[in-house]
Amino acid sequence: MKKALCLLLLVVIATVSFAERVTVRLFSNNRIEAIYVSFDLGIYSLYGDSQLLEPELGEGMTVEVKPASTTGVTISVNGYLYGTFETAILRATDTACILCLNPKGVKQRTYEGDLLISAFDKNNLKIINDVDFETYLAGVVQSEIYGKQSDIFRVQAIISRTWAMRNMKKHRADGYNFCDYVHCQAYQNRCVRPDIILGTMKSSGETIVDKDGNMIDTPFHSNSGGQTANSEDVWRAALPYLRSVKDTFSFHMRQSDWTKVIPKDKWLNYFAKTHKLNTKDAAVHNELLTFTQTERKAKILGVQLTRVRTDFGLKSTFFSVTTDPKSGDVILNGHGYGHGVGLSQEGTIRMVELGISYDSIIRHYYSGASIHYDPSVSQRYVQNFVTEITKIIEEDKVNPGKKKSKKDDWLGKLFRVRDRMDREEEYDPEKDQKEGDWKVEW
Ligand SMILES: [Zn+2]
Repeated sequence: MKKALCLLLLVVIATVSFAERVTVRLFSNNRIEAIYVSFDLGIYSLYGDSQLLEPELGEGMTVEVKPASTTGVTISVNGYLYGTFETAILRATDTACILCLNPKGVKQRTYEGDLLISAFDKNNLKIINDVDFETYLAGVVQSEIYGKQSDIFRVQAIISRTWAMRNMKKHRADGYNFCDYVHCQAYQNRCVRPDIILGTMKSSGETIVDKDGNMIDTPFHSNSGGQTANSEDVWRAALPYLRSVKDTFSFHMRQSDWTKVIPKDKWLNYFAKTHKLNTKDAAVHNELLTFTQTERKAKILGVQLTRVRTDFGLKSTFFSVTTDPKSGDVILNGHGYGHGVGLSQEGTIRMVELGISYDSIIRHYYSGASIHYDPSVSQRYVQNFVTEITKIIEEDKVNPGKKKSKKDDWLGKLFRVRDRMDREEEYDPEKDQKEGDWKVEW
């Protein structure tokens, strides 16, 4: 059962030499002094290094892990202290396993897969989630974008998959693949939404490549404000697929517009002191107070707008300047949110709402790029999985909130689909009816 889902992944991996599992450091933006782990679903085994401490951990049990005074962690289960080990390891015994993590002073999160806990020092734990790659990806998609239609999630899954496959070694020196923070990609929880799993599953085997077939860098941002930015105007390299494009799809969304009021003296002094501009000069003074962007610019009087954005904590570099006639304050009228390079997420949401296809969306934001479909991924497997998840979503709509238990809701059903499809190597949609397998209760 452990190999569930991986059947598909193994096929994906065959041609891209990509690990079927990834290791992700959790709570990487927090200092964790202790963690309490309980079990939402399934059975886990607990190890202290290679020593099996508890073969069957499930509901009602709590593992407490704390840094030891020397390097190592202390492990207790329901108050019973096992001792000090280098690493506490929680291994899922099948695919339907969910951990509930409660670090001291940090909000609870749940994850699937295995957990490895060691200590950085006597005040900080290193918590690693060893998880199936596509499960990780669905969690990333859930953390990175909002929306309703599964194609929104499909687009995000493709760019996040492409990013992950290009950046597998990002934290090699730290001993894991990715952190769970925006430094890599946000992975703030396991995916709890079937529509996101549907979008991610539909994108199986899809990555974005340039005209030579190489996977591209896939930066994205919340909202372009109506025009995306050239990569060289934000970073150094001018990449052929990261060109500025008009993007009216980003209008009239949550992050389309912003304003910021700044005292006039503060604004002028900033350019005078930090950038040595002569603000006494009438032309300079006037430009700083009337700077206008109908199209994106990279600089204001020779000063990089990205620098101004950072120094004033602005949502974007795409702003124009006016002054308040009463107070004399400087008013920045801005558009969009984020660096503006590559794909606009809110533009994507709008384009999906307008019925524009997911591949057209990707081609709109990444000039000259296209979607590569790994031919070794079983179309039939993906299609059948998509059919089953769609069925689950439809059933959920008919009987909203009708949940008897965790095992009975959509996730329980999804796990059964995974397991069953894994057992039947060549999935036969008729088979469950023949065998009544579908009705098996947990
Ligand atoms: Zn990172």
